[in-house]
Amino acid sequence: MTKDAASFEPLLPERLARAITLGGPIPVAQFMAAANAHYYGSRDPLGAAGDFVTAPEISQIFGELIGLWLADLWDRAGRPELCYVELGPGRGTLATDALRAMAKAGLTPPVHFVETSPALRAAQEAAVPDAQWHEDVTTLPTDLPLLIVANEFFDALPVYQLVRRGAAWHERLVACQDTMFLPIAGKPVPDEIVPKALRDAAPGSIIESSPASVAIVRALAKRLAAQGGAALIVDYGYDGPAVGETLQAVKRHGFANPFDAPGAHDLTAHVDFATLAGMAELSGAAVHGPVPQGDFLGLLGIAERTAMLARAHPDRGPELAEAHRRLTHPSEMGALFRAMALTGTGWPVPAAMG
Ligand code: SAH
Repeated sequence: MTKDAASFEPLLPERLARAITLGGPIPVAQFMAAANAHYYGSRDPLGAAGDFVTAPEISQIFGELIGLWLADLWDRAGRPELCYVELGPGRGTLATDALRAMAKAGLTPPVHFVETSPALRAAQEAAVPDAQWHEDVTTLPTDLPLLIVANEFFDALPVYQLVRRGAAWHERLVACQDTMFLPIAGKPVPDEIVPKALRDAAPGSIIESSPASVAIVRALAKRLAAQGGAALIVDYGYDGPAVGETLQAVKRHGFANPFDAPGAHDLTAHVDFATLAGMAELSGAAVHGPVPQGDFLGLLGIAERTAMLARAHPDRGPELAEAHRRLTHPSEMGALFRAMALTGTGWPVPAAMG
């Protein structure tokens, strides 16, 4: 934890408690957004010593294969001038590995990062000093095709929740009692805002939606339709809309109560791929996949690349085999994580999408 985080940490729960006492309970999405802005803004949470480990932090092969996937698309699109864009690039590890692999294939694009966290921007600047940073996607270049990567980005964006009580759906809100935050049912909402198939779910059921994710996917799809290029979204998720609460808090590689200690845990929710795909199509992009991460990396040659590296570095054999297993095995990241691609008008169908 940074010094800043240590001195800053007690303030968010107090601030939220005061806001709730004065203004009443707040939507789960508002709680999640405030908690994550604080969480990511004040620390580097990645890696064995942090709270969670992401695919690019497990092995350089992950970013390298994505770089080759992008270079192949660029080559088949006729090698146009373009930009590399990454949403929520963490420590810049994926970008470093992908850019190295792309450069070997002759692709050396300017780099644009969308990142709100000052702590992670500093880490990204150390990894990719020439990048340009953006607070959100609206300021990305408008004059060139974009190759966009978002790994474990959408899961960090806020979700709204509805909860079934008796014969009605209610917005789920966060209340505060003494210093404890807890979810409660707010006012009932009209049935019409709930997808038909879910309306009669059992009492206690929860459904989630992420308007922030939808807005970003629609903005990216519009850009791809107008400017050309492709986006790769890798995350854990499901095909919704569906009943089920996926909001979770992760701290030190274990689970915590998402309503405890806002700002001290990473809050995530599973990504609704089917909804994002539908919205991207509405905004003019073609959608490919999603496919399980294990299949995606398998088709891109993760086994061969692992064997090659192990031959070159025999001492690293066990570590490389373990990384391969974690990234692709169905009981690890191979099945829950999925890769989905969007492409713009006239762009080729990406590799390894089924
Ligand atoms: N892609 C990286 C990091 C994943 S963690 C990896 O795979 O290792 C989520 C990342 O998204 C962090 O960089 C976090 O700071 C960033 N992030 C979270 N919410 C964001 C938002 N609303 N806008 C921009 N970046 C955000």
